[in-house]
Amino acid sequence: MATKRRYLPLASTRHLEKMMTKYYALSRYHRLWGKPLKRPLAWITSGAPVELLRAFNIHPVYPENYGAICGTRRVSTDLCQVAEAAGYSQDLCSYARSHIGSILRPDLAPMGGLPKPPDMLVCCTNICGTVLKWYEALARIFNVPLLVLDTPFLPGDLTAHARQYVLEQLKEMVTALERLTGRPLNRDELNRQLARSSETIRLWKEIRQLCRATPSPLNAPDLFIHMAPIVTLRGTRQAVDYYRRLKDEVKQRVQQGQGAVEGEKIRLVWDNIAIWYQIFGFFKMFSQQGACFVTDTYSGGWVMELSPGDPLESMAATYTEIFLNRSPEFRARQMIELIQDYKADGFVMHSNRSCKPYSLVQEVIRRRVMQQTGVPGLVVEADMTDQRVYAEEPIRNRVQAFLETVGGL
Ligand code: SF4
Repeated sequence: MATKRRYLPLASTRHLEKMMTKYYALSRYHRLWGKPLKRPLAWITSGAPVELLRAFNIHPVYPENYGAICGTRRVSTDLCQVAEAAGYSQDLCSYARSHIGSILRPDLAPMGGLPKPPDMLVCCTNICGTVLKWYEALARIFNVPLLVLDTPFLPGDLTAHARQYVLEQLKEMVTALERLTGRPLNRDELNRQLARSSETIRLWKEIRQLCRATPSPLNAPDLFIHMAPIVTLRGTRQAVDYYRRLKDEVKQRVQQGQGAVEGEKIRLVWDNIAIWYQIFGFFKMFSQQGACFVTDTYSGGWVMELSPGDPLESMAATYTEIFLNRSPEFRARQMIELIQDYKADGFVMHSNRSCKPYSLVQEVIRRRVMQQTGVPGLVVEADMTDQRVYAEEPIRNRVQAFLETVGGL
């Protein structure tokens, strides 16, 4: 029988909300004044080398982050249906469908959609192949330049050849950005951007590591909400300041023995993107029974080391080694390490209908991880933003049965 448990809110959330509101307001400002001020607006994929754009004074906006906003505000299904009516398949990623729907029907979209048109599109294939087709569609809609960074899938470790292939494209991207902005690459500024990115990543990593404490100071919804700046503001002073503040708060929780979930009894690892429209409802099924998601693979995707040295070479390696661009063996190892490091009792995988590269190999990974760690793993079928795929009762029953197995509840 579940007891009512208190969920501890983070004071930093207020600052996060203010910062993200300011970021989107600034994006509108860039749409209006970017051209005369020579500060263009780019729509960019989450795994693209944003530091390079920022070094050219280009303001980046992330349709994927916007897709997540549509999900939390529960308008994605309507926007997806708009895109589907325009001929985009229901099998496409729901971030892409929500975003395209928001362009076609801004009246249904949060904030009236992203500021448009973008001055350019920047797409990196390290997260999936879908983004390429999505951005090609955007380039056709707005008739603006599309810059593509193609990162080869890594079945094993990064090879010199793969690194060189990406490096050459980065050099071409520099030439294209010089042409589009009318200014040369400022290498000092690029180094500053990379240094701030590294600092942000280091802080995010330390915050996540603080969750090795028992009880864990954060639960998965905290990690999902507070990862927004590392995606959208990586490379900025605001992101560094924000994660310093968050780290202080999380550290204080650890020192005071405060857990995100009152009376933590079960520690779990989450795999895949959040179910945004159920971000609190879904995890409440767990937290009400004393189960806390102490870490995850999704927000952990931004803990990537930017190696020192030549900035373009460093970016070529880092952005090719993104975990979604790696083999099932790599991902299984990563999950095993998380379970061991965070002393987890089990793991839950969101089989996300939208995100094929994340979801298709999960069963292979699940079996391997269970075999090597001895902890149980549950697969829950849903979609990150399209609510039509979420079946409340079957999910609730499976979660209950899983928690009984893990914790004898
Ligand atoms: S398919 Fe997956 S990785 Fe690609 S854009 Fe959609 S959610 Fe992101």
